Amino acid sequence: MTVHSPLSTAEALGELKGLLGDRLLLDEETRSLFRSDFGRQVSRLPGAVARCTSAAEVAAVVRFCRERRIPLVPRGQAHTQSGQATIEGGLLLDTSAMSAIHEIDEAAETATVDCGVLWRDLVAATLEKGLIPRVLTNNLGVQISGTLSMAGLGVASFRYGAQVDNVTEIEVVTGTGEIVTCSPDRHRDLFDVVRSGLGQFGVITRATVRLRRAKSVVRKYYLLYDDLGAVMEDLRKVMDPANPTFSSLESWCTPCLQGIRKIGEGMELGEGMQTFAAWFYPLHLTVEFNAGDPGEHPDDAAVLAGLTPYRRVHTEDFTQHEFCNRMDPVFELWRRSGYWDMAHPWMETILPWDTSREFIESVLAQTPPQALGPGGHILLWPAYTPTSEAPLFMHPGGEYVMGWGILPGVPARFLDRALAQLDMASELSIYYGGKRYLSGFITFDTAEKWAAHFGDRWPRILEAKKKFDPDGIMAPGFIQYE
Ligand SMILES: Cc1cc2nc3c(=O)[nH]c(=O)nc-3n(C[C@H](O)[C@H](O)[C@H](O)COP(=O)(O)OP(=O)(O)OC[C@H]3O[C@@H](n4cnc5c(N)ncnc54)[C@H](O)[C@@H]3O)c2cc1C
Repeated sequence: MTVHSPLSTAEALGELKGLLGDRLLLDEETRSLFRSDFGRQVSRLPGAVARCTSAAEVAAVVRFCRERRIPLVPRGQAHTQSGQATIEGGLLLDTSAMSAIHEIDEAAETATVDCGVLWRDLVAATLEKGLIPRVLTNNLGVQISGTLSMAGLGVASFRYGAQVDNVTEIEVVTGTGEIVTCSPDRHRDLFDVVRSGLGQFGVITRATVRLRRAKSVVRKYYLLYDDLGAVMEDLRKVMDPANPTFSSLESWCTPCLQGIRKIGEGMELGEGMQTFAAWFYPLHLTVEFNAGDPGEHPDDAAVLAGLTPYRRVHTEDFTQHEFCNRMDPVFELWRRSGYWDMAHPWMETILPWDTSREFIESVLAQTPPQALGPGGHILLWPAYTPTSEAPLFMHPGGEYVMGWGILPGVPARFLDRALAQLDMASELSIYYGGKRYLSGFITFDTAEKWAAHFGDRWPRILEAKKKFDPDGIMAPGFIQYE
C-alpha cells in the first residue's frame, strides 16, 4: 500500500476532485449542511463531502482515504441522534445519490437496490407488483443502508424480526477498499458485522431485501388499555407464533394529565411541584384482506376474541400504500409545530420481558407529561425474540422482549436537564437487563461500556475491525475500541 506525504487533510481531500469532479463538495456553506443529524446536538464540519455514484467510485475514495489515513463516515438521511453519521474534518460520504432499484424479483420475493434508495420509493415500486418489504420502519424517508446499518424495527418485527434479518445479500466496500458481496453463504463474517454495523467495517453499496405478498386492504383496530400488565398479556396472545391473525402491531404509553402534585418542600412548579399523569396504552392491530373477495373480509368479533382492552376505540380500513405511509402526516405536523427542529435525545432500549413492566412503570411515574414536548411520545415495541438472528443487533434473551422508547423534542434551554434525566433512564434500563438501540442518544464513552453493550460479540467486533478496517478510518469516534 502507498502511504502519501503528509499534506493537510483539507489539501489532500481537494485531490479527490480529480476523481469526483463536482461531486466533491468543498465549499464551507455546503459542508455546513452536514454538520449535524436529527438529534441536533453535535456540530462537526466535514473537510469534504463526496457524492459517489457507484461501488467502484466508493472503493476508489476509500482507498484514497486509507492511503492518507483520512477518516470517513458513510451517511444516509442522518436520522441518528448522537452524530453517528457526522465527522469533524474528515470525509463525509453522502450515499444518497446511489438510488437505483435494480430488480424486483416477483418469484423470489426480493428486491435488489442501491444503498441510497429510500424505503418510501421501494414501497411505491414493489406495491405496483403486489409486494411490500417484510419489515418497514415507521419513517420511510430513510435509506436502505441507514437502517441496515442500525437494525430497522417496524410494526411487523414481532413476526419477521428486524430489517437486518430480512436481507439476503449485501455488497460492501470494506475499509480496505475492496468490493465484496456477502450473504449467509459467502463471506459470512462480513455479512454478520455489516448488518447493524454502524459503518464501522465498510460502506454498504447495494442490498437484496426480502419482500412479501401484500393484500389490498389493511384493517386497523384501535384498542386502548388502562393497565400495562393487561396490554402485555394481550401482546403475548397477539405475538404467539401459532396465531397468524395479525399483520402488524404498534403500541404506546400515552399520558392523561391529572394536574399537579407535591414532590418536595417548595410550592413552585419545577421546585416542589410537578405535573403528573395517569398512563394509558393504545394498541393498534391490523389484519389484511383482499377487497374483491368477500370470503376474506374479516369478522371483527372473531379477530378480537380473547383480547381484553379497556375500550375498543375505533376501526378503520386503509390501502396498503396509505398504511405503509401512515406516519407522513404525523411527521408533517412535527415539522409545522417546530418539533422537527428541536434537539431529539431519543432513548430507546430493549428490555427483558420479565423486568420490563417494573422498569417502564417506574420511569413513567417520574415522567411529567410536558417533558415530552409537542409531538414527543413514548413507544412500546414488543417482539418475539427468535425472529431475529443478526449478531450485532443487541437485545436481551428470553422468548419475548419489550422495546421501549422515549422520544422527546427538547427546547435548547431545557436540554441539559433532559439529557441528565434520559441518561439516568438509560443506565436504569441497562441495570434492568436492557440493550440500547444505537440510533438514539448514546453516552457510552469508554471501551468498557461498549464491550458491556456487545457482550460476547465484542471479540468478534474487534477481530472484524482488524480485518475489514485495519487502519481505523471508518466512522471513528462513536464506538470506543480502547
Ligand atoms: C422520525 C424518525 C422515526 C424513526 N423510526 C424508526 C423506526 O420505526 N424503526 C427503527 O428501527 N428506527 C427508526 N428511526 C431511527 C432510524 O431508522 C435510524 O436512525 C436509521 O439509521 C436512519 O437511516 P438514515 O438513512 O437516516 O441513516 P443515517 O442516520 O444517515 O446513518 C445511520 C448509520 O448508518 C451508517 N451508514 C449510513 N449509510 C451507510 C452505508 N452506505 N454503509 C454503511 N454504513 C452506513 C451511518 O454511518 C450511521 O452510523 C427513526 C428515526 C427518526 C428520526
